[in-house]
Amino acid sequence: MSDHLFSPISIGPLTLANRIIMGSMHTGLDHSDDPFGRLAAFYKERADGGVALIVTGGVSPNEYGLISPGSMKLTHLEQVSDYKIITDTVHQSGSKIILQILHAGRYAKQENLVAPSAIRSPISKFEPKEMSEQDILSTIEDFVNCASLAQQAGFDGIELLGSEGYCLNEFTALRTNHRTDRWGGSLENRARFPLEIIRAIRHKLGSQFFIQYRMSVLELVEGGWNIEEAQQFAKLLESTGVDLINTGIGWHEASIPTIAMQVPRAAFSWATGKIKQVVNIPVAAANRINTAEVADNIIKQGDADMVYLSRPFLADPDFVIKAQQNRNDEINTCIACNQSCLDNLFNFKTVSCLVNPRACHETLMPKLPTTSSPKNIAVIGAGAAGLSFAIEAKKLGHNITLYDAAADIGGQLAHARKVPGKEEFDELLRYFNVMLEKHQVTTQLNTHVTVEQLESANYDSIVLATGVIPRRLDIPGIDNSNVFSYEEAFRAPEKIGQTVVIIGAGGIGYDMAEFLTHQDDDKNPIDSFNAHWGIDPEGLQPGSLVSSIQPTMKSSREVTLLQRKAGKFGRSLGKTTGWIHQAELHKRGVKLLGDLRYLKIDDAGLHIEKDGETQLLAADSIIICAGQESRDELAEPLNNLATSVYRIGGVKEVRELDAAQAIRDGSKLAYKLSIQ
Ligand code: NAP
Ligand code: SF4
Repeated sequence: MSDHLFSPISIGPLTLANRIIMGSMHTGLDHSDDPFGRLAAFYKERADGGVALIVTGGVSPNEYGLISPGSMKLTHLEQVSDYKIITDTVHQSGSKIILQILHAGRYAKQENLVAPSAIRSPISKFEPKEMSEQDILSTIEDFVNCASLAQQAGFDGIELLGSEGYCLNEFTALRTNHRTDRWGGSLENRARFPLEIIRAIRHKLGSQFFIQYRMSVLELVEGGWNIEEAQQFAKLLESTGVDLINTGIGWHEASIPTIAMQVPRAAFSWATGKIKQVVNIPVAAANRINTAEVADNIIKQGDADMVYLSRPFLADPDFVIKAQQNRNDEINTCIACNQSCLDNLFNFKTVSCLVNPRACHETLMPKLPTTSSPKNIAVIGAGAAGLSFAIEAKKLGHNITLYDAAADIGGQLAHARKVPGKEEFDELLRYFNVMLEKHQVTTQLNTHVTVEQLESANYDSIVLATGVIPRRLDIPGIDNSNVFSYEEAFRAPEKIGQTVVIIGAGGIGYDMAEFLTHQDDDKNPIDSFNAHWGIDPEGLQPGSLVSSIQPTMKSSREVTLLQRKAGKFGRSLGKTTGWIHQAELHKRGVKLLGDLRYLKIDDAGLHIEKDGETQLLAADSIIICAGQESRDELAEPLNNLATSVYRIGGVKEVRELDAAQAIRDGSKLAYKLSIQ
């Protein structure tokens, strides 16, 4: 099926068995007690899963380029043996691995930052020092030294990171390069720094050393280049001796989403195609490629020779082998939520994955053999926690019976998938369904299991995963017919009127506001996305941004989102995706109102107190999105049984609960019960 993806390719000195590159990812493991051991274990599982070429997370060539204090660097011979732990492990598993050299430039989160010009980035605290001629020359030497050490450490080559607004990209962009010497001004001058680095590495390490360059194609910021300049630069890369061009989309400071769930799959492969048109070396496409079908199609339609997938390898280390064996429906698909990967990273935590909590925790949760003492376990609740436990425990050899009162699996996930832009949750439900069937988990849906039934079945253990119910509020008039819980509104949106107030502005309040103000259009999803976010679909404008003001998408429904607290809205949203939700609500004309008290509800709407005065917020419908409570009616009766009872997910702890926590809880318990 994925014929194009699995045709071998020779690139410079490398021959690769397939067209899939595992892209560079920061894992946060550099800050762990055993960075190289844990990274080696992380890469090994992916190499064992059949990936042809792995690119490491970014490693700085000197102190100035460090992304943050204590992050990875390769600057001295003494460090080579550490990196060799990684390369030896990956090679033993039959894959190739290259080192990504990343100089953070003005994005460095440390005080010694440098850049072509002293211009602070809008997302940074510190202003960079402008590099002198001598700084530039010594940085070129540092890149050569780093590449040479990488070769000594056994890496099969390097990737130079020249996209997303990091140092090399800062030199090529007029936005950040205001120099008037030979390193600034014309494209030829702005390109000089990266090209000199490539020449110097080639000179030192010869033609058989593999060099991949990740260049910026769509910059998506003012003062960025357009596709024509990007094409010229690609030709310069080719003539300077680069073996493969990888394509980066959008700077980190761009206000257009480039990898989040709201971005359609393969949304930017057309831009990679424009680079491929002008060079003869292989080109790789990246961003929102999360299934084998999408990846195969990009190559088939000629937009790229390779695909560069990063987060999908957090979600499933066996992505390649499953795709190769036509087991695509068994792939645990990255849903592009960013919740446990990038959000963790930006919260200074080790990266993991919402759908695969073992990611980056391979040494802490090593693969277990099938248990020698299988238990008969009842799992009550087929939401994220119950499903995760049932599947993992069955894989480890336990006998599982999974009960749910609903007709379908999913629990709260079934609401998430209805939110516009969150359709990827369907993949998670598909994965769970396929795994239940593959591992033959006995599943009893439409079953309101009773304590008596559980007692008479004589289970060894019972896992309570009954999740949450919407919080009921104690506001006079709460039982009025114009009041709906978020579950009722997601289930029957046709009952919701034109003027709506939403009580509660957490994740679900935002989701509800998007759900109720969404307007379908008849464009294809990529055209619609480009128009919505102001991307020039031809890439001819500077930064590939359309010059005219974007049309607003004001909804015909009037929605007001409320919170009691004063201050900023959206604090509980994801670190890397919250701004997208905020922008969406703004475009749709949703009003935000905070610092208030709820007084009563009647047929006219919601009465509140704000600034010491009583106000009526006229509304046809009032939707309660004020958090949840544990659904724990079985908890107490189960305590009277002799069987051991475990609680996971929302029934255990409702505070801070999300799908990632629920899935992690389920996996951890399955693991714990299997090592006892
Ligand atoms: P939440 O994030 O805790 O938000 C609850 C909202 O209700 C807050 O705005 C809170 O603000 C209000 N509230 C709390 N108690 C109230 C009360 N007694 N009366 C009136 N208002 C009350 O909960 P959620 O929205 O239900 O989300 C549940 C979980 O799912 C969270 O962990 C969330 O992160 C996750 N989730 C995230 C997303 C996302 O990031 N896009 C989407 C869906 C769900 P005030 O107290 O100021 O009124
Ligand atoms: Fe993908 Fe979400 Fe996992 Fe990150 S946490 S790898 S975005 S599924």
